[in-house]
Amino acid sequence: MTFSEVENVAGYVGNFTVKIRKKARYVDHTACNACGECGKVCPVVKPDEYQAGLSSRKAIYIPFPQAVPCSYILNMDDCLGNNPIACGECQDACEKEAINYDDGDEIITREVGAIVVAVGLDVYDPTEMDEYGYTRFDNVITSMEFERLICAGGPTAGHFVRPGDQQRPKRIGFIQCVGSRNPKIGRPYCSNICCMNTIKDTLLLADHYPDVETVVFYQDIRAFGKSFEDMFQRSKEAGTRYVRGIPADAEEDPATGNLVVTVENTTLGRVERHELDMLVLSVGVQPPVDLAKICGMLTLSRTSDGFLMESHPKLKPVDAPTRGVFFAGFCESPKDIKDSVCQAGAASSRSGALLNAGKERCRYHRDNEQSGF
Ligand code: SF4
Ligand code: SF4
Repeated sequence: MTFSEVENVAGYVGNFTVKIRKKARYVDHTACNACGECGKVCPVVKPDEYQAGLSSRKAIYIPFPQAVPCSYILNMDDCLGNNPIACGECQDACEKEAINYDDGDEIITREVGAIVVAVGLDVYDPTEMDEYGYTRFDNVITSMEFERLICAGGPTAGHFVRPGDQQRPKRIGFIQCVGSRNPKIGRPYCSNICCMNTIKDTLLLADHYPDVETVVFYQDIRAFGKSFEDMFQRSKEAGTRYVRGIPADAEEDPATGNLVVTVENTTLGRVERHELDMLVLSVGVQPPVDLAKICGMLTLSRTSDGFLMESHPKLKPVDAPTRGVFFAGFCESPKDIKDSVCQAGAASSRSGALLNAGKERCRYHRDNEQSGF
């Protein structure tokens, strides 16, 4: 159920009652054919969350290209006003008559036997670590913004330019562990995915722009998955320089918009100064902010770093201490796509096995009752 949120869970294993809020879309998805005429006339302009704020969207929009269902949605918080409607332009433009300003949230109740919590992750916001100038310098971006800038479906159609002057950067630096492995900001854990994400980004740059120089500042490179070390070696062979040391801060040259970082290269035992056209902060990931609400509904506990606590970290890594509740993905601990898929398969099997065992027990009791035991 897309665009829906669990409001409340009651009951116990095999017999949960879940209350779900299906949020108002204000657009009938069975009528909308995603023609986009409504968006063309909407006067509201907002940062596009899917494009990491690097481009804009309207108040009526399609959230992202692969959205399910593939139809427009009206964000009433962004709209110029409802009840009475202040604008109404989109309704006039819609030939399918799909827009309904009187739409409202719907509360749905479902009976379920088991629950899998798979609420994903949030990306670390580096504004609190402003020593790298993320809020002050145009050409300091996060790894998520990098993804959108180099993506063919991104705001620049895959033409990689720096935000300050729309010119193609020639020297790009990556700083690892921004928001990870840092107890001072309450994030002592390794985010697991950022090293390989940066290595992948350096290979993408080498493939698209062979003349670009890339340098990665790191504490350790954690490339421990299948074929990951090979990928790391390929990145080095493609010309990426790996400097063991994390810069303390970054300065901007106001004339050029370039960034200057000073770093202690702990491999060579010397201090180095690097002038870069663009700096990418390889930001960590964290449990979603609304995880506390889910913990309250399902009586779950969290570890000191905020992730969900398993029944046993080694013997029951997908089981919650609450019977009938299972975990999959990043909300349990930092992991990549492959590990998340494995855990989802395990959670599915565990919940199915639990419910089948329950049915067997019921049959056993029923048979015993019938035979007089
Ligand atoms: S709501 Fe109407 S105008 Fe907007 S995309 Fe859908 S069909 Fe087109
Ligand atoms: S009614 Fe709201 S969503 Fe529709 S065009 Fe006007 S501002 Fe945009």
